[in-house]
Amino acid sequence: MILDIQNLSRIFQGPAETITAVDNVSLALEKGEFVAVVGPSGCGKSTLLLTAGALLRPSSGHVSINGENPYNLSPDKRSHFRADKIGFVFQQFHLIPYLTVLDNVLAPSLAKPNPNARNRANELIKRFNLEDRKYHVPSTLSTGERQRVALARALLNEPDLILADEPTGNLDKENKDIVLQYLANLASEGAAVLMVTHDDNAKAKTTRSLHLNAGKIVK
Ligand code: ADP
Ligand code: MG
Repeated sequence: MILDIQNLSRIFQGPAETITAVDNVSLALEKGEFVAVVGPSGCGKSTLLLTAGALLRPSSGHVSINGENPYNLSPDKRSHFRADKIGFVFQQFHLIPYLTVLDNVLAPSLAKPNPNARNRANELIKRFNLEDRKYHVPSTLSTGERQRVALARALLNEPDLILADEPTGNLDKENKDIVLQYLANLASEGAAVLMVTHDDNAKAKTTRSLHLNAGKIVK
């Protein structure tokens, strides 16, 4: 089992109200699974991914990745653990504005040195049709190009667990197909992929779907 989530909740305390963004969710992802997370805006999809990705501590419940609870690790060790095991594609990309495409893709190799990083970065850049943007900075790229850079960066260290928040939301059909096929192949080669999507074509490529509503899995 790559990802095991038990009774996970995440609450946000506002000045006046308490929001239960994720409400007692349990789910497990085995090697080889490519799972879609679907549901209306605000139902907790991104919060679920962040808590699963060792980026946002749950209010209660348990997260285990390859048998380890990342929230029991020190911040330093957790950061290394993330660089080693998890590829995270943020909904808002979070690219580093003053680095080129190549250096953004190479960023995870700073946290986890990898002698093959440069080859792997070049291969991913080529695969996602970014070769002629390699030395450009993010502000000069289209939204779809930035999205593919964010994906390439997430895949640099060949993570076991890939968490992707609407990774095809800004792509044209050709690039969408490339990205979905690539994620499907990674799963069939033994990774586990959890992908937020609104796209029925993307859903069709996955092995199953989880439907969220108001923080709960409803289907
Ligand atoms: P989705 O990705 O499905 O659109 P989110 O996980 O982003 O939903 O948000 C779920 C709920 O939690 C929403 O009501 C949102 O406003 C709230 N929320 C998310 N992040 C925060 C935060 N950092 N602080 C306060 N409320 C938040
Ligand atoms: Mg979201």
